[in-house]
Amino acid sequence: MRQILSGMTPKELEAVVAGLGQPRFVAKQLAQWLYQKQIFSFDEMTNVSKKMRELLAEHYELGRRRPVDKSVSKDGTVKYLFPAADGRTVEAVFIPDHDRATLCVSSQVGCKMGCRFCMTGRQGFEANLTAAEILNQIYSLPEHERLTNIVFMGQGEPFDNTDEVMRALEVLTADWGLAWSPKRITVSTVGVMKGLSRFIRESRCNLAISLHFAHGADRAAHMPAQRPYPIEDVVEMLRHEDFCRDADEENPREGSHQRRLSFEYILFEGLNDKVHHLDKIVRLLRGLDCRVNLIPFHAIPDSPYMGASAEKLMHIRNYLTSKGLFATVRASRGQDIEAACGLLNTRHKGEKR
Ligand code: SF4
Repeated sequence: MRQILSGMTPKELEAVVAGLGQPRFVAKQLAQWLYQKQIFSFDEMTNVSKKMRELLAEHYELGRRRPVDKSVSKDGTVKYLFPAADGRTVEAVFIPDHDRATLCVSSQVGCKMGCRFCMTGRQGFEANLTAAEILNQIYSLPEHERLTNIVFMGQGEPFDNTDEVMRALEVLTADWGLAWSPKRITVSTVGVMKGLSRFIRESRCNLAISLHFAHGADRAAHMPAQRPYPIEDVVEMLRHEDFCRDADEENPREGSHQRRLSFEYILFEGLNDKVHHLDKIVRLLRGLDCRVNLIPFHAIPDSPYMGASAEKLMHIRNYLTSKGLFATVRASRGQDIEAACGLLNTRHKGEKR
């Protein structure tokens, strides 16, 4: 089987060229073609000898694969289906919004976390994506030149696949890689502690915690990950780190290493929208420099979960703000193509669930 080059570091590329009996500088050229010029075929490497291109094609693959399907929402959101290993597919969602264009990428096919309100959770776990498959969603996106932000909020729990996610983040943000500012990248987690602590140590990207329920018992009932990773422990760990709620993507403060910390809170009618739920959020997050993103929910088939009204979302935002929390309401996009939060699902359509 041919090895995939995408996702390799300069050192690993040096080993590749050495193995093919080529001088070291070819590794630098390879990284440039791979990550900066973003080629789809070895033939495009015009400053590399024909012999080397043939050797590379014989033993390696670039790891670039175009999407195999797409659905376009009436609001402009586009959901792409990218190929993954073993005939699997994975979804990525492109969300244009005035001068911003965000891509929501997946880190796994399916997910083990089993959040009861999430289609991906219902799908169950199928496979970890490799760094190459994560990166491919970004640089093989037809609109990738327009992208301003990347969020790891698609299918899967990023810190249940930490090695590959960290490798993808390294390639994304390194000067020799895609040279993205970490301030434009956000990784979202339910709070898988080991991976989260490594992410905090090794990356400067923004962090989003999927909170959704602030009472531990409620959270455990709807999000099984609460048991191994209690939200109280996650928040305690974050208290010792340098975060802020409004790190400026355009003008990062001189010398500041701060990155944005946010808590995602999907509003479920009757389940997490009462005053005592909101007061618990306030107590839990007191003293943390963070924001709370309130997210509308859209019902999924055969599910008891219901979304709260737009008026209630605004009311709750105002309530949290009055208690000293910085809260925003996130627009829901791509609902008509099952691209909105909680709706991603790559089990083959038509298959019985
Ligand atoms: S909400 Fe996220 S962590 Fe929970 S099951 Fe869905 S994809 Fe996994």
